[in-house]
Amino acid sequence: MDGKKDGTYDVIIIGGGPAGLTAAIYAGRRLLKTLVISLNIGGQALLTEQIENYPGYLDKSGPKLMKIFETQARSFGAEILIGYVQKVEKTGENFKVITNVGEFEAKAIIVAAGKIPRRLNVPGEEKFLGRGISTCVTCDAPFAKNKIVAVIGGGNSAVEGVEVLSKFAKKIYLIHRKEEFRADEITLERIKKLENVELVLNSVVIEFIGEKKLEKIKIQNLKSGEIKELEVQMVFLEIGHESKIDFVKHLVKTNEFNEIITNKLGETSCEGIFAAGDVTDCAYKQLVIAAGEGAIAALSAYNYLARKAGKEGLKVDWK
Ligand code: NDP
Repeated sequence: MDGKKDGTYDVIIIGGGPAGLTAAIYAGRRLLKTLVISLNIGGQALLTEQIENYPGYLDKSGPKLMKIFETQARSFGAEILIGYVQKVEKTGENFKVITNVGEFEAKAIIVAAGKIPRRLNVPGEEKFLGRGISTCVTCDAPFAKNKIVAVIGGGNSAVEGVEVLSKFAKKIYLIHRKEEFRADEITLERIKKLENVELVLNSVVIEFIGEKKLEKIKIQNLKSGEIKELEVQMVFLEIGHESKIDFVKHLVKTNEFNEIITNKLGETSCEGIFAAGDVTDCAYKQLVIAAGEGAIAALSAYNYLARKAGKEGLKVDWK
C-alpha cells in the first residue's frame, strides 16, 4: 500500500495494466487528481518477456515496459494503490470505491481491470507460465519456430492458433477435452489437412513437467483413462478468458462475454464511468490497443468533469 489516501479524487482508475496506466498518464497531464487501484502494476504484460509488437519498444520485457508506464504515470502525479476493488457504488453525483484497504471517493471512474486468461489449474502450470506456457498465440507464435508445441482448447482461438502456429512450429498437438469442437468448421477442416498437426481428442493436460524449461506434458484420455506423456517445448492455453467485473456489473451494461460495452469515447452505459482495454467489448486484446483505449477513456473523463464544472471541455484535435 502506498500510504493513506484521502479526499475526493477526480478520477479513480481500476486496474494497473497498460490501459489503466496510460489513462493515469493522460489524466495526470490534465491535472486531474488521479488514483490507480490495482492488484499489481502491469497486469497481463507482467507475464511475458517476449513483447515484439509494442511500437517504439525493442527490449521485449513486459515487466520492464510496465515499469516505464508506471514511472511515467507517477511523474504526472497519479497515485497508485495496491488493492482489491470489492464494489463501486454511485453516491449522488460521485462514486464510492470500496476496496480491501479502505473506501475512496471519485467524481469519475475508469474501469481498466483487464481480462484474465483461463487457467487449467494443474501442477507445473504456475511454474512455466510465461516460460514455456503462453496464453496468446498472436503474441508468441514466432517463439514456436521449429519447436514441438501443443495448443489446448477447442474454440476458435485454439483452432485459429493452430493454423498460425503451423507456419512456425515443427509439430503441433491440438489437445481438446471433447470429440466435438466449438470452432468454426471451415477453420477446423483447414487444420485437419495440415501435415504438422495432430489432434488429441477427449484428452486433458494433467501436469506440466520440466527442470528449468518445459519439457513434457502429462495428458489423460478421458474416455479410456490412459495417461501418457508428450514431449513439447511450448504449450499455448487457448481455453478462453474471464472478466472479473462483479464489482461494477450492477452499474454498466455488459455483453455475453461479460465485457463492458463502450462507445468510441470509452463511455459506458453509466454516466461518469468509462472503460478501457481488455475489459471492454473491443475485438482485439492487444497491449497497444489497451494503451490507446486508456488514453481515450482519460480524455473522455476529463471532458465529462470539465463540462460538469461548466467549462467547455476538450476541443476535438482536428476541428
Ligand atoms: P471459447 O470459450 O469459445 O472456447 C474455449 C475452449 O476451451 C472450449 O473448447 C472449451 O472446451 C475449452 N476449455 C475451457 N476450459 C477448459 C479447461 N479447463 N480445460 C480444457 N479445455 C477447456 O474461447 P475462445 O477464446 O476460443 O473464443 C472466445 C470467443 O471469441 C468465442 O465466441 C469465439 O467464437 C470468438 N472468437 C472468434 C474468432 C473468429 O471469429 N475468427 C477468433 C477467436 C475467437 P469445451 O468446448 O469442452 O467447453
